[in-house]
Amino acid sequence: MFKNYELYLSQIDSKLKDFFERQKPYIHCKLGCAKCCKNAEFPYTRLEVTYLLNGFLTLSDETKQKIENNITKTVEKKKNFKGEGKFRYDCPFLIDDICSVYPYRGVLCRTFGLLSNDPKTGKIRAPFCSHEGLNYSCFSDPETKTFSEEKIRDNKLEVDPLIFNIDYLMLTDSEFEKCFNIKFGERKALIDWFIVDENKNKAS
Ligand code: SF4
Ligand code: SF4
Repeated sequence: MFKNYELYLSQIDSKLKDFFERQKPYIHCKLGCAKCCKNAEFPYTRLEVTYLLNGFLTLSDETKQKIENNITKTVEKKKNFKGEGKFRYDCPFLIDDICSVYPYRGVLCRTFGLLSNDPKTGKIRAPFCSHEGLNYSCFSDPETKTFSEEKIRDNKLEVDPLIFNIDYLMLTDSEFEKCFNIKFGERKALIDWFIVDENKNKAS
């Protein structure tokens, strides 16, 4: 069922493994650092979420229960959210600061942590954790929480900081769909895949 998607993922993973390896001096990712799995939106396409749920089915009953509880609580919080801007939450699949479905995680979860280019503006995108003493923090000013593109371009470091072409929308676009004969489908925040549209149910 997921043969083509798994081929796509294995090719992406092998590139990313190389990218992370090449940027080792700037990377602080390690097991238990879960800051990027918290307080965010987590965009997921239908294909990604279906695969994620396939991973969920492999988990122990105890872990499944914890995830289900997280989902229920987060859905409730989202329904009651009256704040401005986007609703941000901790990923329900994060258990004890470790991803419970790591081999099944989405595309953005895989690419996060590297420098990339915003295809629309051409600006460099740095992971937020660069302002928290983590990845690429040597280019960040912790006081102003700004990231210096100049410093990156003028760097005199042993290993060059590289900017990768790993934009999430690009990696899930129609070119990749054609190439791997897959269909990503609708995209929405991960938690929204678990919110039942009560109006739809009433109408049907
Ligand atoms: S990307 Fe940043 S926040 Fe996420 S695991 Fe790596 S160091 Fe931690
Ligand atoms: S799926 Fe896993 S890696 Fe992705 S945000 Fe959730 S816990 Fe983190």
